Amino acid sequence: MSLRLYNTLTKHEEDFSSLQKGKVTMYTCGPTVYGRPHIGNYASFLMADLLRRWLEAGHGYSVTHVKNITDVGHLLHDADHGDDKIQKEAEKEKLHPLKIARRYEREFLEDEHALNILNPHHRPRASEYIKEQLAMIKKLLKKKCAYETDDGIYFDVSTFPHYGDLSGNTLDNIAAGKRVQVNEKKRHPADFALWKKCIGDNAKHILRWHVESGEVSTSAGDDPCSGFPGWHIECSAMSSTLLGNQIDIHTGGEDNIFPHHECEIAQSECATHKKPFVRYWLHRRRINIGSTSSPQGVQKMSKSLGNVLSLDDIIAMGYSPLDLRYYLLSVHYRTNLKFTKKGLEDAHIARRRIVEWMREQGQREFASHGSSHDIKDFSIQKIKGFYEDFKNSMDNDLTTPAALGAVFECMNYVNSASTPGDDGHTLLKDFVTMIQRTFGCFDIEEESIPPVVRSLVRKREEARRGGDFAKADALRNDVLALGYEIRDGEGGSKLLKQAKK
Ligand SMILES: [Zn+2]
Repeated sequence: MSLRLYNTLTKHEEDFSSLQKGKVTMYTCGPTVYGRPHIGNYASFLMADLLRRWLEAGHGYSVTHVKNITDVGHLLHDADHGDDKIQKEAEKEKLHPLKIARRYEREFLEDEHALNILNPHHRPRASEYIKEQLAMIKKLLKKKCAYETDDGIYFDVSTFPHYGDLSGNTLDNIAAGKRVQVNEKKRHPADFALWKKCIGDNAKHILRWHVESGEVSTSAGDDPCSGFPGWHIECSAMSSTLLGNQIDIHTGGEDNIFPHHECEIAQSECATHKKPFVRYWLHRRRINIGSTSSPQGVQKMSKSLGNVLSLDDIIAMGYSPLDLRYYLLSVHYRTNLKFTKKGLEDAHIARRRIVEWMREQGQREFASHGSSHDIKDFSIQKIKGFYEDFKNSMDNDLTTPAALGAVFECMNYVNSASTPGDDGHTLLKDFVTMIQRTFGCFDIEEESIPPVVRSLVRKREEARRGGDFAKADALRNDVLALGYEIRDGEGGSKLLKQAKK
């Protein structure tokens, strides 16, 4: 069976094929680093991680994955007016915007590492791709797909007939509705900012670049020659620079569909004339929280509603980040998961059962070697069947509940059967490896780390985050004394068990 994926653009499940044989290019909209991401954000990054793992483990593709860091230009309410989210946080905390951005970027990378999300091949920061963004903006101006006003440069949506194809928000719908606040300087309410000038409300913007040279500007206050990019252009420019003008897959959360991804398509296709800019669009449905019995009912988890949970909250509840990983992946990505404590507890129990079973299988292999007494083999055909069910479920638009169902059926069968013969065992081992590579939360080694070591590692991360490096070093030595070495690297720290002397 070939891999089938639901494409938000065509609203259909389609057979997946890549532009280049054996290779896949994939772009994931990364976080805006102005605060700690919440677990709803991670649900979308985990979906991208699962997809990449399945392309690699299940289909042998060589995937090039780009996930950006938005450290400038993401305006509040995702519209082209209002404050830059990072600038606003910087004013609140009385720190330089880049200090804020780097701090939350670091926390994000630590969280991703704890959730066992694979590092992308490129993690571009928007602030380091300004020249590429300006080059694209200039191309759009030249093609008359964009125009300049006294406060910025805007994309002219009337030049792109396919605007609305992804989200259904066509120009007619937008004109009829009152959703978009009218900016009198714009020709159409749906026109969106490619560049904002540092004047008026944006005169206080600290991160700014010269529009002509693309170099960092040191001016202050009103300066129409300096400005900063709009959010949408960042992803278009970074994606084409790192992956080319046409890519296989673009992922994000459901909230990114409009306006962000709709605008990305318009800019990229107008600037490059490559259609489609993205061949498969995949979006994770949002996470809800609360219950039907609470006064607010079920709400979407969002920072603006103040009902978010961070990874630290999950750890404080006594769960491993990998329990959360399992929980968020155990529900199909096109289902709205209603997050509950009970759901997390069930995920914790289910994950432990699978890890324990995998550990037993490893030991069973050891025990079966050299045993000569008569062993009744379990049916290889049965194992083959479970393995096929697993693969078919993943190929069917990443239907993880059914894939995990096949894992549990296999577990029940093996537990009730006798020790496998060699052939059966090899097949079972392959299956276990495939499950581990695909889901990334059944690492037997990881599970054998004593809770005291894990707790010390976490305390050290906190000390590092708070800038208390003396304390962090002391905790690292405590961990070392227990036989584990912490190695810091890009994307977080790794824990290595020291060989016994
Ligand atoms: Zn993006």
